[in-house]
Amino acid sequence: MKISCDFCWRLCSLSEGQTGICGVRQHQAGRVVTLNWGSVVALGVDRAEKKPLYHFHPGHRTLSFALFGCNFRCSFCQNYTISQQEFFSQREGTIMEPSALVALALERNTPSISFTYSEPLVWQDYVVEVALLAKEAGLLTIMVTNGSFSEAALKRLIPLIDAFNIDLKGDEAFYKQVCQGSARPVLASIAAIVESGRHLEVTTMVTEQHHTPVVMELLAAQLFERQVQVWHLSRYFPHYQSSDRQTSERYLSHVIEMARHTGIQHVYPGNSTLDSTTICPGCRSPLITRGGMHAPHTTPLLVDGTCQRCNTHLYGHFPP
Ligand code: SF4
Repeated sequence: MKISCDFCWRLCSLSEGQTGICGVRQHQAGRVVTLNWGSVVALGVDRAEKKPLYHFHPGHRTLSFALFGCNFRCSFCQNYTISQQEFFSQREGTIMEPSALVALALERNTPSISFTYSEPLVWQDYVVEVALLAKEAGLLTIMVTNGSFSEAALKRLIPLIDAFNIDLKGDEAFYKQVCQGSARPVLASIAAIVESGRHLEVTTMVTEQHHTPVVMELLAAQLFERQVQVWHLSRYFPHYQSSDRQTSERYLSHVIEMARHTGIQHVYPGNSTLDSTTICPGCRSPLITRGGMHAPHTTPLLVDGTCQRCNTHLYGHFPP
């Protein structure tokens, strides 16, 4: 008999002993189990800006970790050694109980835990266990994901995650050709998370070959329609199987200007030396400045998330 996994939009129907496309979920004796449950393969402390999250407790340090696995096959993957099965099948991580991760976050004094680096959707039973304990301990939770949730996964995770960063990788053709995925579940998840009121920032890695002005206008319109407030446009550098050339600062600057004109409040450059200051949407005053690896600087104009010059409230969560 086959049974289905409901962790992502693929809803793989698995026979006894069969493993899903992610390589980590398997049908065993009438239930689907996560083969690498608790096997941590990447662990570190990052600033929230690295996720990237610019409007969620700026500058705070977050305990970040991953298990193996992903349900996409992006040819440009930046973390392919921990996301793609052919690279991780012979490797093992360090088994950590959820309580050990929470204890580590408390010991290192990080106010949040981030599920990141690979695709947390495919190890979401572990995400749920860690997140429940993290909440009990008063920690915030962050999920960096490709956004291809199933409906069940959205219901399961939205109540447990305080902030999401979702990749919108391109148009439907790009997802099909380059990622072996689909934009549809990603756009549906973005809409559901915005509607839930949870914090959301979206990231798109911009190539010059695929992310033409026409495609970028389409993505901007899709995000604007779904009321996304923060969009990170990141410069592409050649990686893994992709031979596309590096994206120029000039091209990135062009698409950022275009995106700002579509009405999305905050559009930021990533992997770039372009200016990433947060500007007040009301009076254009600079509210948060950022530079290189340094912690962001909040100007005296931003108090408790509100611009003191024009009283506009900035999207996001800011310490008083
Ligand atoms: S996580 Fe997604 S890809 Fe993996 S088995 Fe479940 S439905 Fe399939």
